[in-house]
Amino acid sequence: MKKQYKYLFWDIDDTLIDFKSSEKVALKMCFQQFGVVLTDEDVAVYSQINHNYWELLVQGGIEKSTMLTRRFEDFVQQLSLDGIDCHAMNALYQVKLGDYAVMTDDGYDVCAQLSRSKKQYAVTNGTAVAQNKKLQITGLGALFDGIFISDVVGYEKPDVRFFQHAFSKIPDFNPEEALMIGDSLSSDMTGANNAGIHCCWFNPKGKVKGDASIQIDYEIKTLKELFEIVG
Ligand SMILES: [Mg+2]
Repeated sequence: MKKQYKYLFWDIDDTLIDFKSSEKVALKMCFQQFGVVLTDEDVAVYSQINHNYWELLVQGGIEKSTMLTRRFEDFVQQLSLDGIDCHAMNALYQVKLGDYAVMTDDGYDVCAQLSRSKKQYAVTNGTAVAQNKKLQITGLGALFDGIFISDVVGYEKPDVRFFQHAFSKIPDFNPEEALMIGDSLSSDMTGANNAGIHCCWFNPKGKVKGDASIQIDYEIKTLKELFEIVG
């Protein structure tokens, strides 16, 4: 199936930017400033805590400002670390996370090539501090016709109001010509379903789609496969 899509909505973390790599470097740098040297295993523990909190957030189970600090509180508790100001840690982490953005394979090239013929928009659930910085230092920001960050919009993907906000900012927008590209079933694919646009699941590791209620229009392992899809 090949369709002429005019508007591409891009998830950022783990779609265009290798979030795990950024997370690892940023987390180690931050804790080092607090006098703690983290191992890769420690980072994996944090990563799981953080992932769980983001899932809870997109399900509407927690406030963002609460979870951003609480993930660090849980983490330092698990590692039995004392005397760490988790609020300050989170603030520092947002800045560092933006400093160490690593692109996914072909991420920049595919996005750059498509920017010549498509309208492209970043749609991301990250924080404004980290996401704006990441988009700037990778050069990705210049490839987008609009950037929508949940922090600024006031809603997280998959909330339909996040997408309605984005659509309202695009002149002559037609949802039938729009495609959402992202790695997350719970925020990107479900969000596209809620918003009534087609979606492409970037699934490089061949994960199994557990939830049958989520409608996937395309599934790709590499971003280059998009050229075959978007027309
Ligand atoms: Mg993602």
